[in-house]
Amino acid sequence: MSVLVEVSGLSKHFPVRSGGLFRRVVTPLRAVDDVSFSINAGETLGLVGESGCGKSTLGRLLIRLIEPTGGRIHFDGQEITGLTASAMRPHRRAMQIVFQDPYGALNPRMMVEDIIMEPLLIHGAKPDAESRRLVGEMLKLVGLPARARDRFPHEFSGGQRQRVGIARALVLRPRFVVCDEPVSALDVSVQAQIVNLLQDLQTELGLTYLFIAHDLSVVKHISDRVAVMYLGRVVEIADKKTIYANPQHPYTQALIGAVPVLNPRARGRGRRQRITGDIPSALNPPSGCRFHTRCPHVMPICKEQNPPLLDTAVGHGVACHLMTLGSAGKQASGGKGPGAL
Ligand code: SF4
Repeated sequence: MSVLVEVSGLSKHFPVRSGGLFRRVVTPLRAVDDVSFSINAGETLGLVGESGCGKSTLGRLLIRLIEPTGGRIHFDGQEITGLTASAMRPHRRAMQIVFQDPYGALNPRMMVEDIIMEPLLIHGAKPDAESRRLVGEMLKLVGLPARARDRFPHEFSGGQRQRVGIARALVLRPRFVVCDEPVSALDVSVQAQIVNLLQDLQTELGLTYLFIAHDLSVVKHISDRVAVMYLGRVVEIADKKTIYANPQHPYTQALIGAVPVLNPRARGRGRRQRITGDIPSALNPPSGCRFHTRCPHVMPICKEQNPPLLDTAVGHGVACHLMTLGSAGKQASGGKGPGAL
């Protein structure tokens, strides 16, 4: 399997000004800090973590909706970091985003046909019969009736609006789609329908997804691999089976322990480590391992040194000093190689 998206040392620091009238003091908010991983063509990488951990910022960085502070992004073998707007144009078609809030993301004054057609027009198409045909094709693909084109977003349910958002994202036939919490705002009964639709579309159109969610059960269903983020850093990444059956990082163990288990016999199996307290501010992150203020296994070294992401097995990267003290991990491969990070 070939690598489609690869990032190395990617960071995004937002300047936050304070200091009264002249607002001279600038403190960087480290939303994303030195993140490296890759996504293979045709796979889904799930990205999970608590609110404010930087996962949405990371998703926007990958498709260059926002500019990184440092690091590199390669798309289909070409570095796209620093490309001018015109040089980015062909890549823009190939990378799209589905937003969390299907209502806020759609212009309430535009009819569905215009909403779906807009990306085509931005990329030089005319509002002609061919564009309208493509809109019809997209409506069919996402399971909406042809008559939906003449309606406004407020006339639809949340699930139907998200289908419109998906149609808009896919009308340019992208190769890579960032799904930024696409079901978080929907009723539980509708979530599965949208996840199934995204999976069907992936198979039909050969799409590659970064699927962002805080709900581990949703990520489990759709992902091939899962990356766990904590306060701007990836702390663990592995294939889905490994991360759920054998989580190594204390934060991942706590997240998995927090997922409700329906089968009473399965309750109590595995680690159900609880973490307490809120996620610290990215404006003033803890020194060393950023999880040390909440970690039940914290050691003196954790407060001083940031643990690097190490391969504990092929394709299983963990950033925790317990790995180096417990067993000799080797430097993570940084996303170079099939299934690796
Ligand atoms: Fe906990 Fe230390 Fe591992 Fe961080 S490095 S997760 S504080 S044991």
